[in-house]
Amino acid sequence: MHAVRNIDHCTKDCLCLYVCPTGASDTETGQVDASKCIGCGACANACPSHAIVMVPEEYPTQQEKTVPVANSMKRLADSKTMQECIAAGIAEETDAPITRQLATAVAKSNRIMAEDILREAGYMLPQSKEAGSFLNEILDTKDPAFPKEAVEKLLKLLNHKEESKSGKEVNKMEK
Ligand code: SF4
Ligand code: SF4
Repeated sequence: MHAVRNIDHCTKDCLCLYVCPTGASDTETGQVDASKCIGCGACANACPSHAIVMVPEEYPTQQEKTVPVANSMKRLADSKTMQECIAAGIAEETDAPITRQLATAVAKSNRIMAEDILREAGYMLPQSKEAGSFLNEILDTKDPAFPKEAVEKLLKLLNHKEESKSGKEVNKMEK
């Protein structure tokens, strides 16, 4: 572990300077000197502004996106999207200002979480394999409101070429 300072929260020249046993917590540059930091955590405990956090030297490798992991992410994204819709509906219906504010905040928060999940799952880049597969999958929908022509045009623009479930080649994305 070593200490990292968030300079936006730091009020400068106070407790961390006095408790650091190695002089690593120098506020002149705003940085903690990683070469001197021994990871004791004294500065993080002493800081009145919570400007210092302890971070690991090495982070674990990202979990491999196996099919069960990808499916769990999709289910989680679905649930966040549903929660966003419910909260947005409450915000629209209610006459109570506090409930409206709270429901709006919940809707936004769920939107951000869903976007993060989709980004992690590889769906936020139109040229990604996942986005191509998704667009190909939803082309089969019978919903008359679905913008089929626009999706077909997008697939063509992205030049996706993918094997469909029937084995026939369909548009899929290229690198
Ligand atoms: S973790 Fe310890 S050594 Fe590192 S900067 Fe903070 S007080 Fe200094
Ligand atoms: S104790 Fe916290 S607020 Fe004070 S100088 Fe150190 S990092 Fe900044």
